[in-house]
Amino acid sequence: MPGNSFQLEVNPKIPPALARLEELAGDLWYSWDIATRALFARMHPALWHAVNHSPKTFLKRVSQRRLDEAAADPIFIGTMNQVLAAYDNYHRAPALFGLDGRKRLQQDDLVAYFCAEFGFHESLPIYSGGLGILAGDHCKGASDLRLPFVAVGLLYRQGYFQQTIDRDGRQHPRYHDTDFADLPIKPVLREDGSELRISVELPERRVWAKVWLATAGNTPLYLLDTALAENTAADRDITHRLYGGDRTTRLEQEILLGVGGVRVLHELKIKPTVWHINEGHAAFLILERIRQLTGQRQPALAALDFGCALEAVAANTVFTTHTPVPAGHDHFSMETMRQYFSPYCEETGIGSERLLALGQTDGSQDFNMTALAIRGSRYHNGVSRIHGRVSAHILAGMWPQIEPLDNPVDYITNGVHAASFLAADWHGTFDRHLGLGWMQRLTDQHCWQGVHRIPDQIFWSIRQSLKARLLHLVRHRVRAQHLRNQASEAHLDRMLKLADPHNPTVLTIGFARRFATYKRATLLFNNPGLLREIITNSERPVLFIFAGKAHPADEPGQELIRQIAELSRLPEFEGHILLLEGYDLHLSRRLVAGVDVWLNNPVYPLEASGTSGMKAAMNGAINLSVADGWWGEGYDGNNGWEIKPGAESLTAEQRDAEEARTLHELLQDKIIPMYYRNTSLGYSPEWVAMAKQSIASIMPRFNVHRMLEEYVDKFYAPAAGQWRKYARDDFRGARQVAEWKTHVRQCWPGVALRRIDAPQQHVLFGDTLRVEVAVQLNGLAPDDVSVELVFARPGERNPAKSKHYTLRHAGPLDNGEHLYTRELTPDLCGKIEYRFRVFPFHELLTHPFEMGMMVWL
Ligand SMILES: *Cc1c(COP(=O)(O)O)cnc(C)c1O
Repeated sequence: MPGNSFQLEVNPKIPPALARLEELAGDLWYSWDIATRALFARMHPALWHAVNHSPKTFLKRVSQRRLDEAAADPIFIGTMNQVLAAYDNYHRAPALFGLDGRKRLQQDDLVAYFCAEFGFHESLPIYSGGLGILAGDHCKGASDLRLPFVAVGLLYRQGYFQQTIDRDGRQHPRYHDTDFADLPIKPVLREDGSELRISVELPERRVWAKVWLATAGNTPLYLLDTALAENTAADRDITHRLYGGDRTTRLEQEILLGVGGVRVLHELKIKPTVWHINEGHAAFLILERIRQLTGQRQPALAALDFGCALEAVAANTVFTTHTPVPAGHDHFSMETMRQYFSPYCEETGIGSERLLALGQTDGSQDFNMTALAIRGSRYHNGVSRIHGRVSAHILAGMWPQIEPLDNPVDYITNGVHAASFLAADWHGTFDRHLGLGWMQRLTDQHCWQGVHRIPDQIFWSIRQSLKARLLHLVRHRVRAQHLRNQASEAHLDRMLKLADPHNPTVLTIGFARRFATYKRATLLFNNPGLLREIITNSERPVLFIFAGKAHPADEPGQELIRQIAELSRLPEFEGHILLLEGYDLHLSRRLVAGVDVWLNNPVYPLEASGTSGMKAAMNGAINLSVADGWWGEGYDGNNGWEIKPGAESLTAEQRDAEEARTLHELLQDKIIPMYYRNTSLGYSPEWVAMAKQSIASIMPRFNVHRMLEEYVDKFYAPAAGQWRKYARDDFRGARQVAEWKTHVRQCWPGVALRRIDAPQQHVLFGDTLRVEVAVQLNGLAPDDVSVELVFARPGERNPAKSKHYTLRHAGPLDNGEHLYTRELTPDLCGKIEYRFRVFPFHELLTHPFEMGMMVWL
């Protein structure tokens, strides 16, 4: 049509009877409440699908007639009232019983949680993958447990890309501008009704950001957006794309998140007592908090210097690392840092060298965000037991004199938000066999044993119907994808021959995650001949479903997608391998619930945790995974299959070959025969038993409520306590610690230990052993150090398995050394290795080894 075209959207008027639908659409509660989503979907299923399950967009586009009909339909109104009753109950109930996160915190405590991405639901596209979805689950869990909690992130105009895959297997990223009016967010207003804006200083300019609020049940999430007329075109683009742009954009995004985020809370008079940095991107919050403490203080109070402020800030900061390789840590050149932070150094009165030292690491010239995060926090963790150990080694240089296994890097294994990922089909059956209230007892292992009481037939039929639902979606997606790529109907029929929702009997295995090389999406094809033999037996066929995005800059990752596409077209694999495009939360929910087996085969130990396998297990899918990340703890011998990592001394090719062989053997000898074991029941009882064990053993341990309880007990409550101690009386504690540390650092190089008693070689059980050591304190006071005797079995390397006995100070010696002694009675027989050590001690320290100093005899 000739001429200019103009755009117009006509929005319906919401009938008064349906007014509260807008409230439901504005609360991400819908992202885990299935009944709320069903309420919208039923009104107009096609539109619901077209608006990507966004209730807010739905209400803007649905026809007036549908709304009026719904308003006049007593059944719709009845259903809506039920949903609203549940909604009100959730928001008003004091807490989920037994799980009141506030109990362990004090009245005024508040946790602020910062992350570069948040994955709540496909209708709020500001996430790329695991990190964001974990952050979303963290917020949802905090809402369930009524934790005093507030989250901070960035609002990206384009979020992460949408993916299509062409006929040659090439990935095409597509970026869509989001209309913020379609998102479940609203601008934050000041008391006078104007929009809240904050600003950050960047070289030669000030950049403004608008503040938005997303609400997820009881959790507020503040999001920053620089697309404002006040900013230059380049600065408007700072929040254009998640993980987009160049290094400068990344740095500016991180300054906005860390520095700007603290300013938002400050403007809103929100006063957190605990600050949680989820991955290094947000670590600049440390610098901004220090700035606030060093400046802007009442004249009556002495200014806090940088060192004191750092101690105060670190005392209530928690840092979670998610990266298992040093190269994965975010870093910027020192030159760029100097450029961006020179006004900061002037304002806080520190030299730029001191600031840059906070990001220094041994192996690199760059400013490392993980190093900053570690130095500015006293609570640090990896996200699984294995990853905690790996991180302790990667970060060992931060505490140079401490054994890696003894350093302050702890772990809290990830969990997932069960309500978001558990299929609706289970709810009624769980009500019946676990008892009402199972949703409030997610961490109760005993409750979850009830899964074994579900009759096999019922259990199996739910599994089958979940698979049918998945296959329905798969057919739909594969059709759309292949018709767009000009495939013929005949070809499509061959592709989809096993994906039959009416006959969901084929063993279906899912593999969906980011296409990063360490995840080895093609490991399965390591021996294609053998694989073909295993999976194309017409009596016992196997269907594999692959999905996932590769970062647009990750060429090798995109090459993996191409290879899978190519393999899926080989005549021998046709119909057995399906590759779906556009992996997102919606597809993820369906996949994890619908497949029989969830496959994960990363290169050990590069999977920090992984969470998709937990989602699958909760739905009765069975994990087949390399013993890495969470599966290192999750596998119990009866709830799935484990691929043992090949020895680390092997080459990458040898390891791949060995682990692929294990994978093929498990498929051939265990998994396929067990699934297809022919019984008159119509299903395999062994399979059902293992699927039940998968739910019963994994649900109570790997859900986000368990994870949050650990964060509260290990970190949040202690960090809030440290803050009170450090901040009391105008930061007296922080000043003491800072001064004391400066003194200790000066004296430490001269501290030494010497044994002075004659070592005994043998004692009898029950006899007393007396030990004496002389310590050269080099200017430190006797109680500035702790002198310890460490007992261990010979060869034992794990510090957790040793015993420590503190020696008592017994007075000065003539030569200036100090005598420390101890009498003890060994409580075990056999050979014992013992050693002596001395390290700085102060009662206000958060971790005994936080200074990284220790001298052994
Ligand atoms: C759960 C989830 C992830 C993270 O899964 P991993 O096991 O860590 O790979 C990524 N993307 C989506 C859409 C998810 O739902």
